[in-house]
Amino acid sequence: RVVVGTKVDQNHVNWVTAYNMLTGIRFTVSRTNAKIARAELTDADFEAKHKFSFDITGNELTPSAKYDFKFKDYAPGVFRDLRQKFRLDPADYLMSLTSKYILSELGSPGKSGSFFYFSRDYKYIIKTIHHAEHKFLRRILKDYWLHVQDNPNTLLSQFYGLHRVKIPYGRKIHFVVMNNLFPPHRDIHQTFDLKGSTIGRDFKEEDLEKNPRATLKDLNWLRREKHLEFGPEKKNLFFEQMERDVSLLQKLKIMDYSMLVGVHDLQKGNQENLRDKTLQVFQPGGDSPSDEAPDGRGMLIRTPSKLESARKARELRQIIKQEKPIPMGQSSSRMPDTMEENTAKRELVFYSDDGGFRATHEDNSPGDEIFFLSIIDCLTHYGTVKKLEHFWKGLSNDKKQISPISPEPYGERFINFIEGITKSPEEAARDAQNAARS
Ligand code: ATP
Ligand code: CA
Ligand code: CA
Repeated sequence: RVVVGTKVDQNHVNWVTAYNMLTGIRFTVSRTNAKIARAELTDADFEAKHKFSFDITGNELTPSAKYDFKFKDYAPGVFRDLRQKFRLDPADYLMSLTSKYILSELGSPGKSGSFFYFSRDYKYIIKTIHHAEHKFLRRILKDYWLHVQDNPNTLLSQFYGLHRVKIPYGRKIHFVVMNNLFPPHRDIHQTFDLKGSTIGRDFKEEDLEKNPRATLKDLNWLRREKHLEFGPEKKNLFFEQMERDVSLLQKLKIMDYSMLVGVHDLQKGNQENLRDKTLQVFQPGGDSPSDEAPDGRGMLIRTPSKLESARKARELRQIIKQEKPIPMGQSSSRMPDTMEENTAKRELVFYSDDGGFRATHEDNSPGDEIFFLSIIDCLTHYGTVKKLEHFWKGLSNDKKQISPISPEPYGERFINFIEGITKSPEEAARDAQNAARS
């Protein structure tokens, strides 16, 4: 599970970087929140960048900080608007990212060398990104924003901020703030990162023993014969949104993204309580209520009746057609959880079942798993890096199977794969039977 990380404290090598990131975010986000938003964003908002110098003494603009550093804030008005579109509470966002300078670092899980940090409450992720990705995000920001405007239920990564830090004589570090797809209050029993390719898409099963919560890949998924178990209603919602999202990615010539899938098994529930153990590391002083390690035990999701589920599915469908978020209060029919979570996010379709999207049967009645789904790592532009890689890899491998294919076929392959593994349990059983017969 991704939440297992290393606590970033004063002794951690990246303590200064983490401290500076959070100090900069706190300052710039408060500054932006304090301003009155204009009715409409202008082109200038998308291009905006503001630079601040922090030092030990402080100055008329910035408060004093522990270290000397420079901080750059990009398109703050746009990101404020995005946070609002994604239903974040401004105060909550600030609290999570800055109430104490404690993060956990996931190190660098991918090959890219990016670092991941979780906010202390695990709601948000800071990902350091390459300069090329940074430039690219700025270039596509308007398209992304327009897409979110038209598709509030987008499956694409939710970006909440884009910033840069630099210490004297140090290098520039660009980073984004994103949502942690996996909610802090639920155990995620399995995680998959799916691209729709088979080459190199296998996590060594032997290594699972060492790291039972590792992120698995396409071949591991197929080997397990898993499915995204959605009946017709939810399947349609999911496909419709994914197709829209992927068509944006194709248009912007993006590739190398994946569908991140977290699976919460309702039968297993939260018994394993891995998080409790992890969070104990995060109890520095305990002077605020959220410092209490949440207790994962004894939480229930009330199983909605068939009628309720049908009504809800209908609501969801109407909402996605009108591209309107679900009105508060109507989208949920479950017991309140004791644990803190981003409840406002539940207004969004794919976050509406306890932060995720619950499995359904062929008759659209609820199933046994909650899926947490998002298209992640979508800042790789084909033109910049991948053409070279394509050339080199193309020499040795089957052209169709290598992952750096151009954005159009990449998107097609991605959609085909994800749609191919989306089946209600009944459908999956039927297909397995047919396959056995023939
Ligand atoms: P590479 O380019 O080598 O694929 P990367 O450094 O760009 O790697 P990502 O692909 O963005 O990294 O993410 C790596 C892993 O981190 C994912 O497979 C997933 O396990 C975790 N992760 C990324 N984004 C999120 C998110 N929003 N919520 C939860 N986990 C995430
Ligand atoms: Ca990736
Ligand atoms: Ca990447």
